[in-house]
Amino acid sequence: MKISIIGGGITGLSAAYYLSKEGFDVTVYESSYFFGGQASTIKIDGYEVERGYHHIFRNDYEIIDLINELGLSKSLEWHKSSVGMYADQSLYRFSTPIDLLKYKPISLINRIRLGFLSLYLQKKKDWKVYESISANDWILKYAGKEIYNRVWGPLLRAKFGIYHKEIAMPWFWSKMKTRFASRNKKGDEILGYLRYSFEELINSLIYNIERNGSKVKLNHKVTSIGHHDGVVENIEYVHDGIKEKIDTDLVICTAPSYEIKKLINFEKKYTEKLSAAKYLGASVFILSLKKQFSPYYWMNIIDNEIPFLGLIEHTNLVSKDRYGGNHILYITNYLSHTDEIFQKNKDELLDIYINSLIKINPKFNKKWIKKYYYNSVSAAQPVIPKNYSSLIPEIESPIVNLLIGNTTQIYPEDRGTNYSVKIAGEIVSLIMKKKGETDEP
Ligand SMILES: Cc1cc2nc3c(=O)[nH]c(=O)nc-3n(C[C@H](O)[C@H](O)[C@H](O)COP(=O)(O)OP(=O)(O)OC[C@H]3O[C@@H](n4cnc5c(N)ncnc54)[C@H](O)[C@@H]3O)c2cc1C
Repeated sequence: MKISIIGGGITGLSAAYYLSKEGFDVTVYESSYFFGGQASTIKIDGYEVERGYHHIFRNDYEIIDLINELGLSKSLEWHKSSVGMYADQSLYRFSTPIDLLKYKPISLINRIRLGFLSLYLQKKKDWKVYESISANDWILKYAGKEIYNRVWGPLLRAKFGIYHKEIAMPWFWSKMKTRFASRNKKGDEILGYLRYSFEELINSLIYNIERNGSKVKLNHKVTSIGHHDGVVENIEYVHDGIKEKIDTDLVICTAPSYEIKKLINFEKKYTEKLSAAKYLGASVFILSLKKQFSPYYWMNIIDNEIPFLGLIEHTNLVSKDRYGGNHILYITNYLSHTDEIFQKNKDELLDIYINSLIKINPKFNKKWIKKYYYNSVSAAQPVIPKNYSSLIPEIESPIVNLLIGNTTQIYPEDRGTNYSVKIAGEIVSLIMKKKGETDEP
């Protein structure tokens, strides 16, 4: 069986690896000039660094299994994380329950309430009861205005911008659950990171796909998926400005839903499902600094005057010695595709950001910046609406032998590389089942 995979991100490459291992003839078509998609890396001073900060949680079982299977278990290192909150022009530690009790921007009674609610959500098993309520309404109802205005509301707004009232409660529940599951007995959050970045995983997947006799192709943008009588027949792609069509028995499309809709027309119901979750883009700045910016790996910004939602200082998770002594700081924003930030060039953005960085750390100086890089990702974060169970696009599309796998199918968990590997596994199981049904006895 000849299988074409659209997209060389974690979903596409994992599916290709598992299928090539089973002996299928697979080709991955990736439109851009690099593999890895959202989990891809760039070189800074000779060291690979993710375009957008990445870590692994302790309960990311599927990706951990894949890492082990590929023989990379020694590379997966676990580090103690640290969280800070910038609010009321001050920086607060927010890593442990004790830090929460000391968090002055809210009253003591609400600090205790916040602690209990966090614990309650972490212990709660039946997330389905939250399907019909938004996170926004649940927080207002059960946590009250102060916690909403001073802690969780700004975090929701920062993550989902104009859509913050739409995000469903199961998303919030799963966020609390995941972060709890990644804590050790002492209550410290422990996060995983590959010794040589996610590039190690991506390169290993590619190496094994090719070793198993399958192919991966960069700069191949798929422009349409052809079918005959509702059964997949071919794909068309553009490479070096030349359009080509090839026959294929099965297509796995891992592109974002809005891209998939451009490749083929589906019946109304499935098209509606592909449109149910909107996407936010991410604007990510990477600074390579001479000095440490803050003591925290992850800093949430609760301040409307600051034009970004968070700072992630990668070298507060992984030692700066791994990066030639440089400090790696990400400035991150999740924004709607029409946000004016996406119109600005990186120098304009840096000028805007520098003033805010000085507000957070008055000692910060532009001269600390050795190098800076800017990336934007358009399908960075699906916004999962209420009652999503019945709206998730199925892996098996209405076109026979066209399977769909992307981040809009991850529910109730937040999107992440682990769940991309999980979806790839589900797709492969489906194909194996189909094969089993059609094989001659
Ligand atoms: C800023 C940021 C931080 C993140 N942090 C974490 C983290 O800490 N931990 C974690 O686990 N996850 C994290 N994630 C999420 C994680 O990176 C994604 O969920 C995961 O990588 C998605 O993989 P994917 O293969 O489904 O999609 P993508 O990575 O989006 O891959 C899809 C690929 O399809 C290609 N494509 C699209 N259209 C076509 C076409 N027509 N023809 C050919 N190719 C096409 C794209 O170029 C792309 O390479 C983060 C994401 C972002 C943006």
